[in-house]
Parts: sequence; C-alpha cells; structure tokens
Amino acid sequence: MLYHDVLIVGGGLAGLRAAVALCDVYDVGLFSKVHPIRSHSIAAQGGINAALANNPDSRDDTPEKHAFDTIKGSDYLADQDAVRIMCGEAPAIVYEMEHWGCPFSRFPDNTIAQRPFGGAGYPRTCFSADLTGHVLLNTLYERSIHKQVRVYPEFVALALVTDGNVCHGAVMLDQVRGEIVPVAAKATLFATGGYGQVYYYSTNALTNTGSGIGIPYKAGIPLKDMEFVQFHPTSLIGTNILMTEGCRGEGGYLLNNKGERFMEKYAPKAMELAPRDIVSRSIQTEIEEGRAFDHELGKYVNLDLRHLGGKKIMERLPGIRRICLDFIGIDPIRDPIPIMPAQHYSMGGIDTNVKAETAVKGFYAAGECACVSVHGANRLGGNSLLDTIVFGKLGSMAIDQYLQGSASKPDERLLAARKREVEEKVKAMAGGGTERPFSILKDLRVTMSRYAGIFRTGDELNHALGVILKLKERYRKVGISSPKLSMNYELIGALELESMLDVSHVIILGALAREESRGAHWRRDFPERRDADWLKHTVATLGKYGEPRINYSDVVISGYTPVERKY
Ligand SMILES: Cc1cc2nc3c(=O)[nH]c(=O)nc-3n(C[C@H](O)[C@H](O)[C@H](O)COP(=O)(O)OP(=O)(O)OC[C@H]3O[C@@H](n4cnc5c(N)ncnc54)[C@H](O)[C@@H]3O)c2cc1C
Repeated sequence: MLYHDVLIVGGGLAGLRAAVALCDVYDVGLFSKVHPIRSHSIAAQGGINAALANNPDSRDDTPEKHAFDTIKGSDYLADQDAVRIMCGEAPAIVYEMEHWGCPFSRFPDNTIAQRPFGGAGYPRTCFSADLTGHVLLNTLYERSIHKQVRVYPEFVALALVTDGNVCHGAVMLDQVRGEIVPVAAKATLFATGGYGQVYYYSTNALTNTGSGIGIPYKAGIPLKDMEFVQFHPTSLIGTNILMTEGCRGEGGYLLNNKGERFMEKYAPKAMELAPRDIVSRSIQTEIEEGRAFDHELGKYVNLDLRHLGGKKIMERLPGIRRICLDFIGIDPIRDPIPIMPAQHYSMGGIDTNVKAETAVKGFYAAGECACVSVHGANRLGGNSLLDTIVFGKLGSMAIDQYLQGSASKPDERLLAARKREVEEKVKAMAGGGTERPFSILKDLRVTMSRYAGIFRTGDELNHALGVILKLKERYRKVGISSPKLSMNYELIGALELESMLDVSHVIILGALAREESRGAHWRRDFPERRDADWLKHTVATLGKYGEPRINYSDVVISGYTPVERKY
C-alpha cells in the first residue's frame, strides 16, 4: 500500500496546478495513466481567455463582460456566481503562468497577444501561436519537476475508495510492475479530463475515456449535466484532428459546396465566430441539406484560410498547417481545409462546487472531468484551459483547508478490501469471457455518434438507450486474452469500458429526459428552450441496484435573467 497526504489522479493542467500548489507543505503523489506531458491538455491549440484588455479592440474589456459572455454562451445553464469567480481569477492566472515562464505570443508593445474567439464580445483569448496547451502544460510540468512533485506515470486508477461519507484513496494499477496497488490518502483529487472516446467522431486523445468520471460515479458520487456534450465545428475529415477555433479567430471562413459563407444565414452578426453549438448545427444542416462535399470518409464543408496569406498562417497557425500537410496532404496556404464537426468537450462531469468539493468529504475533482458548472449547456472556446488552472488552484486551497482541519486517517482495511474486489474482477475477465472489449467499444462509439450527436430526437435516444443496455449485458461476459497485469492494454481497455458504458448511459438518460433544446443539447422534437421546466441542472447518481437515477438541482442566477441568445 502507498501513502500520501494528497492523491492526485491526472497529470494534465488541472492536476499539475493543484500538485505544484500543495507539494511545498504536503506529501503529494500525482498518478497518471500516461506521462503527464502526454495528457490531452498538450493538444490544446487556440488559447486561454482572460480580460486583459491588451488588444486595441478590447480596451474596455472587464472580467464582468467575460462573465456575461460565458453565461450567455452557456445558454444560461451555468451557475452565475461560479462563472464570476472563474472570470475574476482569469487575469491573475494568465499573468502567473507568464511569470512561471509560459511563452505567450505578444503584441508589438510586448503585452500578451489576444485573438477573437467564438461567442466573445472582445478579443480576449491569450495564446501561443496554435500551441497554447503545449506551452501551458510544459510550464506547469517544469514547475512540478523544480518542486520535486512525486509523479507516478503509467498508473491507472481503477476504483475510488469511500465509506459513503469520506474518501480514503483509490486503487491503482501499476502498469510497469504489473501490480494492483491501493493508495491511501487523506484527500483525493481527480483531474482526469473528458470522455471523448465514447464517441466515434472525436477530437480527443485515446486516453480520454472518461474512466475518471465513471469511477467516482460507481462509488456513489453524483454526475452533473452529462447530456451536454460539445461538438466542435471544425475537425479534419478522416482523422477528426482539431482545427482550432483560432483559425476562424484569425479570420478563416466556412464555405459550403456552392462557395457560400453559409454562417450568414445562421448567425448574421457573429458569422464564423458564433458559439460552437450554433456553428456545429449550421454545418450539420448544410451537410444534411446537400450543400456539402463528398469524401470517401464522409461529408464535409471547407474551412478557408487562403485569404489570410502565407505569412499570417505561418506565424499564427503553424501547427494547423503542419497537421494538414502531414495528415491529409494539403497546404492551407493554397487549399481550403475539409472539415466536419466532431465530439470535443465534456460540459458535464463530477458534480462539484467552486472549491472542487464533491458530495463526499476528502474527494475533489477539477478540470474537464468536473462540472462546477461554469460552462452550462455550451462552453466558449478558451474557457476550458482557464477552468483547469483556476479550479486546480481553488481545489488545492480547499484541500489545504481540509487537511488543516477535519481530515481523518484513511481506513486501510477498506482499501485492502477494495483491492481484493478489483483483483477478483480482473481474474473473472481473464477466465475466458466470450465478449471482446474492442467489439463492445466499437458498437458503443458508433451508437453515441449516430444517436446522441449534434441533433437528437426522443426516438433516436430511446434506440440508443436500448443498445447501451444490451452492451452492458454483453459486458458482463467480457473476456481478455491474457491475465498479465503489466502493460496489458486489452485489460485496461476492458476495465475502462465499464466506465464508458456508465458515462454513455447517463448522457443518454439525461438527454432523453430533457425535453427542450439548450446549448449543445438540441432536440428536434423539442426545438425550444423551456426555462419554466428546464432551467435546472441534471444530477445523476447510482441507484441501489446499480441503475442510474436522475434528479435535478437549481441553477444559480445572480445578475443575468435568461433571455434568448442571439448572435
Ligand atoms: C484537441 C483539443 C484542443 C483544445 N483546445 C483548447 C483551447 O485552445 N482552449 C481551451 O480552453 N480548451 C481547449 N481544449 C479543451 C482543454 O484542452 C481540456 O478541457 C483541458 O486541457 C483538460 O485538462 P484536464 O487537466 O482536465 O485533463 P487532461 O489534460 O485531459 O488530463 C487528464 C489526465 O488524467 C489522466 N487520467 C485519466 N484517466 C485516468 C485514470 N483512470 N487513471 C489514471 N490517470 C488517468 C490522464 O493520464 C491525464 O494525465 C481542447 C481540447 C482538445 C481535445
């Protein structure tokens, strides 16, 4: 058994930010199923929002205006007090990262450069070319080395250990040594990122399975607003690699097969810089109504950067150009980029407050796996990197307070018992089950993309629900070909699949129940937002017999009365 004051699961921005804050005072262990630098945060391209007012066009920008744009973008489902806290922290967070060595792009006057992003009233997205996640994550990782944070790479969390009221740590699989290891801790923080891999078309890394959301759910922790899944408008056809919103922020156009800038019809003022839910639906509508191009890998519209010129593309979007050259053999300086929408971000997640606290004492969650909620029904581009660092920081402060106060000694017997349960599960899987995990996973991902996508209907969601229940049935007979515990990706895939099925189940149930259209959740059979009935958060918990139960909680409205969104 391993012991730490604080157990952090996840080496992305949220996990690292909490670790560097706590490690001076506490014994921190940071566990991640891949090396921290391979976390999905590394892939973030476009930028991080903060009302710095550096751009000549944003001189009168303020955190309050940032908060308003975020609340409006969320289709009024975000908790307004939480949004204000995040946007208020933003300038200090960005300057802190700058002082820690993060190389942001600059304006000629040497201030941090800011570009326009979707749904924002001012250009307030700070960036480093199109490598913003890369530089932020490397800055925090270097700081964690400097501060000698104890990192355990290649450790997969398999179970959270709680007694219903208090968290005692987690059970991990040490992939290198091939051992199942309980980790006892007074405080546990999950910073495990999103669940994009439950969708077939996703911009997310293969590591984004959502197991860090499914594991706490299994341990009785509520999940919030899971039906709100963000689809990014512009992913490269074929691979679904993200083409950052920065492409449109820098002035890129979206064109259909008639050469029309079709966003004129859908968001005449904001055009390509309308929020992501609106742009994704617009592209999907162009595709469905026959105004898209055909490709052997699907239908697409064009993202055209050519008019920006080679110099600007090389300076502001070099990574995008490189990806296009390497993965599809086109050069955006000369050719339009074929794109389609794809799953991108998890608005929902582990139900937390602004201190990253959950329903169980000593268990915290921050970053994309958590739902505070600051993104509501639709997240604005550039607000997620901000969310990870702000709530990684605020979570670390709450953990500090807890450890100075009422934290109790972890119960080793409970941890040992949970370890044995996990071992039994692995043994059963290796005992010759007939269902292969990859086959169930493929069916799950196809179902989610087809029936729980950009546009939804009650019939389709009901169909998806039936499929998920059958897949869960098949999962009971899942088998793996080798019982080895070391570097056995089939085993990890099989174990994580359970979470993926749970996460998908809850997404579908929430979507089925929510008979309205709000933000990224669009029901063709209920195309209106219905505040009277649905201005509330969905809260899903595990029932007594393992069945999901859906409840609701209030949205905090403090200042901005919900009105219709217009862009
Ligand atoms: C391609 C792409 C581009 C993006 N661009 C932007 C952008 O420009 N601006 C913006 O604001 N947002 C952007 N986002 C969103 C943003 O990058 C993410 O929401 C954010 O980085 C998530 O950070 P995180 O710390 O929560 O988790 P992640 O960075 O995803 O890290 C999760 C960590 O948890 C670990 N982990 C997960 N499960 C387990 C387990 N069971 N056991 C052990 N370890 C586990 C992983 O190994 C990893 O270390 C982008 C997202 C994508 C996919």
